[in-house]
Amino acid sequence: MSTLTQFDVLAIRREFPILQQEVHGHRLAFLDSAASSQKPRQVIDCLEDYYRRYNANVHRGVYKFSEEATFAYERARGKVARFIGAASQREIIFTRNTTEAINLVAQTWGATNLRPGDRILLSLMEHHSNIVPWQMIAQRTGAILDYLSIDGEGRLVLEELDQKLTEQTKLVALTHQSNMLGTINPVRMIAERAHAVGAVMLVDGAQSVPHMPVNVTELGCDFLAFSGHKMCAPTGIGVLWGRRKLLEAMPPFLGGGSMIKVVELEQSTYADVPARFEAGTPAIGEAIALGEAIDYLSAIGMEAIYQHEVELMAYALERLGNVPGLTLYGPLTTEQRGGAFSFTLAGVHPHDVAAILDGQGIAVRAGHHCTQPLHRHFDVPATTRASFYIYNLPEEVDRLAVGLEKASKLFQ
Ligand code: PLP
Repeated sequence: MSTLTQFDVLAIRREFPILQQEVHGHRLAFLDSAASSQKPRQVIDCLEDYYRRYNANVHRGVYKFSEEATFAYERARGKVARFIGAASQREIIFTRNTTEAINLVAQTWGATNLRPGDRILLSLMEHHSNIVPWQMIAQRTGAILDYLSIDGEGRLVLEELDQKLTEQTKLVALTHQSNMLGTINPVRMIAERAHAVGAVMLVDGAQSVPHMPVNVTELGCDFLAFSGHKMCAPTGIGVLWGRRKLLEAMPPFLGGGSMIKVVELEQSTYADVPARFEAGTPAIGEAIALGEAIDYLSAIGMEAIYQHEVELMAYALERLGNVPGLTLYGPLTTEQRGGAFSFTLAGVHPHDVAAILDGQGIAVRAGHHCTQPLHRHFDVPATTRASFYIYNLPEEVDRLAVGLEKASKLFQ
């Protein structure tokens, strides 16, 4: 396969210490970045630099390290804001991950705005993180969940918007890119439709923000949630972006230090956003390292990253098409599709597929990928999933295909 990638993938690979290892005597082919990406030296060094040189709590100290930590933490917030095209860095709330960001919206915006009979529109392809928090708040408020269906290629059935998006719909919560199918959803159009009926739109960007240019102003959504660990940053740091007006009208999520103005014995007043939503000591080094990861990805270019994955996906669709017994779930073209794909291999359990591939140094994921309703829709209990990122090569697609052919033969 000739490569059109605009960056030097081999040079990028050298920046990831973990990719230099052998696994079971083979060079590591890491095809599980949709679960969590690997980290470049630049990000690891940044985290280490914080702990070695200026580790201190933020916002309260008046000594040098604390001021330096506060400056770096708030500078990271600014980097996140610019990266996603937010109007202000005050609209950026640091959370632990996507899951916490969505729960924050459900428990604060949802608890304040949802009434019995109100409807929340989701889709069948949501990750459990964008289903369970809405079930929990629906049970508390009497709101009702609706789901957009998907077609045989794993794309949303958009015609259903006519019946399922109504004046009763108060919130639409949709994934930008499916973690199982790789489908990229037309969230901009759906946000416009949601606003036309007075609903608020939350986008789960866990699989889009790391892999393509995402600009909240262009998307026209109201909330965006994503996780640092899927975009070269450490675990324990995630982001909720929200429109300032909405955030300012929301009550706090967790109570404690840092989120208050005045605390009395019976009651308290709360800080302005974003501090109102960042109770307790945050993941300081991790947030700073997320800022570094954003610098790293931005230097490569998000559009170039997206094109690289599309190219790998095009090759995978072609190459895996020749593997006997392979069923691929999700779009069979690269149009509006990213670089994550799930499959089954006739006669071989997905966990066995993953174990056989592991024996050849190929890391993939097997199971339901936190999308049980989607697996039920396809009538499969589990699938194997492979996913690409900046450091993957066409030859790894070849190794995957050869590994699958081997697994197929072994079980025949
Ligand atoms: N949403 C999607 C689409 C995901 O793929 C994931 C993680 O795989 C999540 C949400 C949850 O992310 P986290 O576990 O970092 O909270």
